[in-house]
Amino acid sequence: MTDKAQYKVHKEPFYQAQGREVALYEAAYAARLPVMVKGPTGCGKSRFIEYMAWKLDKPLITVACNEDMTASDLVGRYLLEANGTRWLDGPLTTAARIGAICYLDEIVEARQDTTVVIHPLTDHRRVLPIDKKGELLEAHPDFQLAISYNPGYQSLMKDLKQSTKQRFTAFDFDYPEAELETRIVATETGLDEATAAKLVKIGQAARNLKGHGLDEGISTRLVVYAATLIKRGVSPRDACRMAMARPITDDADIRETLDHAIEATFDATPA
Ligand code: ADP
Repeated sequence: MTDKAQYKVHKEPFYQAQGREVALYEAAYAARLPVMVKGPTGCGKSRFIEYMAWKLDKPLITVACNEDMTASDLVGRYLLEANGTRWLDGPLTTAARIGAICYLDEIVEARQDTTVVIHPLTDHRRVLPIDKKGELLEAHPDFQLAISYNPGYQSLMKDLKQSTKQRFTAFDFDYPEAELETRIVATETGLDEATAAKLVKIGQAARNLKGHGLDEGISTRLVVYAATLIKRGVSPRDACRMAMARPITDDADIRETLDHAIEATFDATPA
């Protein structure tokens, strides 16, 4: 399989639009403008990019960024082999060569000296200097850079530099409002809408605890997890505790509050 085919999104991912983001992304892509999707964890940022890659029929290369990631992890490195050395392109280089959308997930996690390697790709130059090889790679006309960014994690140590931020167009994402989230959870898992609505209600109530002892609310991802467990025959109460309450906090008081909300919501349902 060619690189291009390997990275294509072959099946349409389910994506529930929240606004005009699909048309806006298409406009940004048409102009090959770099895109940043901002928002809390598990609210649909990655799913959106995956959907757009499918819709635009472009390969997608996703990189989960972390603090140990170096510029070489993105650009590439020489490998030692029995007969000498061989160059191996990193994911950013592959994307620039084949004309993929390169999605750097949680870019803030990467160190700033790593982040700067994307700069020459994000302006009119559209080049990637591969210093170790002495190559200046011109990006394929289809190449586009997309990054995700969770402003909730922002701290003095971990924030994107203005010089990086100001190279991107940006979308603000948030957890969907109840009706949309119910549709997402029901469509994603096949759970009936009435039960999905109850899970969403608990999720939304927990989001109000943010700042009152909770750093982040319950994500749509976790609501989907709870629904998946219920579809597998787990009782709604157990599913909610396991997927929605336990992962997000170790604080006994908050757990109790969440457990009460779960009990109250599924009171009439045999647990
Ligand atoms: P993140 O914002 O952390 O990138 P994801 O895109 O991975 O989050 O979303 C987490 C999960 O939530 C997805 O796997 C999907 O099940 C569900 N989800 C959230 N928003 C949507 C949406 N708008 N359409 C479809 N699924 C969604």
